[in-house]
Amino acid sequence: MGNSTERQGGVRLGCIADDFTGATDLANNLVRAGMRVVQTIGVPAAPLDTQVDAVVVALKSRTIAPEQAVAQSLAALQWLQEQGAEQIYFKYCSTFDSTPEGNIGPVTDALMQALGTDFTIATPAFPDNKRTVFKGYLFAGDVLLNESGMQDHPLTPMKDPNLVRVLQAQTQKKVGLVDYQTIAQGADAIRARFAALQAEGVGIAIVDALANADLVTLGAALQGMPLVTAGSGVAIGLPQNFGIAPDSQAAALPAAEGLQAVVSGSCSVATNQQVAAFIATGRPALAIDPLRIAEGADVRGEALAWARDKLAGGPVLVYSTAEPASVRAIQGRLGVEQAGAMVEQTIAGIARGLVELGVRQLVVAGGETSGACVQALQIAQMRIGAQIDPGVPWCHALSPAAPQGLHIALKSGNFGTPDFFTKAFSRL
Ligand code: ADP
Repeated sequence: MGNSTERQGGVRLGCIADDFTGATDLANNLVRAGMRVVQTIGVPAAPLDTQVDAVVVALKSRTIAPEQAVAQSLAALQWLQEQGAEQIYFKYCSTFDSTPEGNIGPVTDALMQALGTDFTIATPAFPDNKRTVFKGYLFAGDVLLNESGMQDHPLTPMKDPNLVRVLQAQTQKKVGLVDYQTIAQGADAIRARFAALQAEGVGIAIVDALANADLVTLGAALQGMPLVTAGSGVAIGLPQNFGIAPDSQAAALPAAEGLQAVVSGSCSVATNQQVAAFIATGRPALAIDPLRIAEGADVRGEALAWARDKLAGGPVLVYSTAEPASVRAIQGRLGVEQAGAMVEQTIAGIARGLVELGVRQLVVAGGETSGACVQALQIAQMRIGAQIDPGVPWCHALSPAAPQGLHIALKSGNFGTPDFFTKAFSRL
């Protein structure tokens, strides 16, 4: 047994994530840094029943009304404190998705008040994902945030790349900056800068970071800070503060068994390639036609009947994945939301049916589709395992349809290499 399985004690890091795939992204970083991690879907009703180093509570609070986001985040905080969490991590998007109303500012203010702390940091920096912060300005790849396409986001248009200004518009606290010059001088200099900012009345400090090494340096300076707010990047520097180092045992999941299947409701470029690559292997693949769902055909029943005798031979794929022109045509006939919801529900029903047929290794493609499948399988929490590709780990979860548990990988749209749908199973 490795160190991590012998490690005793309660939850070190309690995390609150403002969306589902963002939660998995954070959990994945923590596992890679050596922590054993459970991700919960919403705030659990019961206490945690396994021993882990970190818990990530996945909310869906990024774009809801600020009062609701605050209420949900405070409920998550209370549950995490009941599990003994020593440090709280509020996780948001690495493009700082928010509006002048929130929700990053209001949630941070409320968590600070509940924790009785008057200082925290805020940084979406995640160099592995090409998000860097310099002089408080957020870059996505080689361009400023407001030139990256995020300025046109339908819900959270980011028109100002200066995070001090962006956050100041949303918070009661004074916002300051720990700039790169300080980061380059090491953890002691960062701590001294924190103290100086606090003396000036600053409550939240935006922090520059250009490389992973900066996040590790920053991590050391965050030891003992009650609340950290960040994208998923800062997670790589925190486990060391709890005496935890990278350890493959942290990603250990129960042995995989049972039948294998992929369901895909994602129409992203990468997923289209993955579906084509799976079909090219000659394995069984079934396309779902949204128009037949709209006509009331029993598409779910047909798909399960199709899969039933093929599953014993290896992984099968059921997909609604289509090229943009075809998706637009369907949306034109059914409406965007209607088409999306219908397809999601059908795929989720098929996922549940496949698990009832004995599938215990399930890959789901699509962010929204993943949410629908997790709901249909009534999954409340997932233990996070090793990553298949960046940002996509295998997980293990209990479901009424699989009381002994199943392995599930939730892949959002543009993640994964073209051979993802076959490679994933070879990693178990
Ligand atoms: P991604 O992570 O790639 O964005 P999502 O699952 O989040 O994938 O979103 C894809 C959306 O498109 C879902 O609402 C899904 O139901 C819908 N959809 C899937 N296939 C089709 C299709 N053939 N026509 C129209 N909409 C579709």
